[in-house]
Amino acid sequence: MNFSEIKSLDESYVLQTYGRNQIAIDHGRGATLWDTEGREYIDFTSGIGVCSLGYANEAWAKAIYDQAMKVGHISNLFYTEPYARLASKLVPAAGMAAAFFGNSGAEANEGMIKLARKYSFEKYGKGRATIITLKNSFHGRTITTLKATGQDHFHDFFFPFTDGFRYAEANNMDSLLAEADGDVCAVMVELIQGEGGVNPLQKDYVQSVAKLCAEKDWLLLVDEVQTGIGRTGTAFAFQQFDVQPDAVSFAKGIAGGLPFGGFLVSEKCRNVLRAGDHGSTFGGNPMSAAAANVVMDTLTPEFLAEVQEKGGYLRKGIAALNSPFVSGIRGMGLMIGAGIQGMTHKELKDKLMAEGLLCLTAGKDTLRLLPPLVITKEEIDKGLAVMAKVMK
Ligand SMILES: *Cc1c(COP(=O)(O)O)cnc(C)c1O
Repeated sequence: MNFSEIKSLDESYVLQTYGRNQIAIDHGRGATLWDTEGREYIDFTSGIGVCSLGYANEAWAKAIYDQAMKVGHISNLFYTEPYARLASKLVPAAGMAAAFFGNSGAEANEGMIKLARKYSFEKYGKGRATIITLKNSFHGRTITTLKATGQDHFHDFFFPFTDGFRYAEANNMDSLLAEADGDVCAVMVELIQGEGGVNPLQKDYVQSVAKLCAEKDWLLLVDEVQTGIGRTGTAFAFQQFDVQPDAVSFAKGIAGGLPFGGFLVSEKCRNVLRAGDHGSTFGGNPMSAAAANVVMDTLTPEFLAEVQEKGGYLRKGIAALNSPFVSGIRGMGLMIGAGIQGMTHKELKDKLMAEGLLCLTAGKDTLRLLPPLVITKEEIDKGLAVMAKVMK
């Protein structure tokens, strides 16, 4: 099918819930994609931080095929090797104690919310179930994670929402302390607010939050759905803030393109969720877990150092354009945001796409770049050349 045939089926039969780019992706290799009309693109999106190993990765595809030919799915009522092996890699990589596997970021965050509330209930009883999140955050699209998201426009239409969330200003301890009543059981943060505009939290702020959580016996829940699994150049971003969360969620990049997510808990929280307390039909699915094992095996210290290095190279490359449209560059590793002025971030994204570079937007005015972690210098240079053409 060509683009207009696909688009016509979409418009006839699919809910129109996305502001889609006006191309249909057909196939890819590495960090390069081709659309149905044969046009080539450098990909600075990786499907919103998902395809960490790029496209058509042989080891990844083979692991999925091999597992599909053994057993593609079986219930969590049975043990299987792929999720067990995966947990044995993820847990030590994060310095945590145990893993729960689900399918998506929102589901992972819901699990952490349940963990915090049960931890607090078992220790302190009722009336201590509030979770403080940050303004401008994004935690998912279920009824509960929409409410956890600290942006008013996500709280329209779908009420009644889940109770028990309050919001504090990011990087402002006074604002957090103002919410620190006796009803609180946890604080949940993204270390770089992704959807909100690629806004990193300050290290001293994160450390103060961790200290306050420890003092009050609030759980520190870190949403690493976007920042986790090598995206920022360490297995998890919290490792660059020198804090240890009580629970950390992950999803997007974990299985390199298959639906997968979950959370890790610290020793203190290991026995909070017990048989019957939590579960997921597809969670820990053998094919997704097999794919995730390939991703985790790829994240060697050398590979992660390259992610940092390539991220620095891309940030410097954008700065060197001296573009009048760029007002500031932020981010860590291969999670990069550039403030855009003089045209909207969406206009710029469309112009870049027309010249062969795919980018994302975030917040009100941010161009967001999340290339596959395996992107080559040559591919980065090609992307920068498109930026130079459009943005000089
Ligand atoms: C994408 C994202 C989510 C939601 O993940 P889904 O898989 O879409 O449910 C939650 N938190 C953060 C930080 C995200 O970037």
